[in-house]
Amino acid sequence: MLWLSVYAGVLGACIGSFLNVVIYRLPRRLPLIAPGSRCPHCEQPLPWRYKVPLLSYLWLRGRCAYCHHPIALRYLIVETATAVLFAVSILLMEISTELVQHLLLLSILLAAAEIDRLHRIIPNKLLLTGALGGLLILVWAVPSVVGLHLLIALAAVLLGVLLRQFTLWIWRTPGIGMGDVKLIGMVALFLGDQILGVVYLAFLFGGLYGLVGLLLRHLTRRQRIPFGPFIALATVLYPWCQRVFYTWVEAFLIA
Ligand SMILES: [Zn+2]
Repeated sequence: MLWLSVYAGVLGACIGSFLNVVIYRLPRRLPLIAPGSRCPHCEQPLPWRYKVPLLSYLWLRGRCAYCHHPIALRYLIVETATAVLFAVSILLMEISTELVQHLLLLSILLAAAEIDRLHRIIPNKLLLTGALGGLLILVWAVPSVVGLHLLIALAAVLLGVLLRQFTLWIWRTPGIGMGDVKLIGMVALFLGDQILGVVYLAFLFGGLYGLVGLLLRHLTRRQRIPFGPFIALATVLYPWCQRVFYTWVEAFLIA
């Protein structure tokens, strides 16, 4: 089982490396496959030995081998996060289509969260890829719930649009972006009715972050916070939070 987890971690690091390409190129409308990776600073094409996930970054000590310009730490963070999430997922879930679905959702969410954090957008191409992938897995593995999940995704998007209009009416500025609304719809396609809990948790995390940020004067009142990262975080932590919540309720009822 440990070896399986190590293999999953290596696969995760490779996927994370591809996600870094997606995060850099998709918002700039650059092609994803060709040309091969280059240093964003000196534009020198990178041979394979400088593209090994995790290891190349550490070996080069976070600098380009040619121009020695620092490479952003987020490249290493995305690769490490994907590797850890993949390795832990395979320990917690058995090998199944559910696991494949879960790993696809994690990968799309990681890219969406990082692009939203950096550029304040969530590209439609990314959301469509996630939605199509999620739908295909559902049709293949559990065709009986496809209709229900589609309906819930549609309801989630409608609710998101209403919420957006409501905040626009109250604050004269939208509380969540259209990209976030579409992201919630995509996650709903994967998770079905669990989306309610995920959105609730995302608002909780976002609210807490805003409050602490204001108290520490790290944020200003008018500052817009990207919501995508909180949706991603809530989706990852939801099963765990749900377990903790039920344990509390149970303990409360017994007491
Ligand atoms: Zn360079």
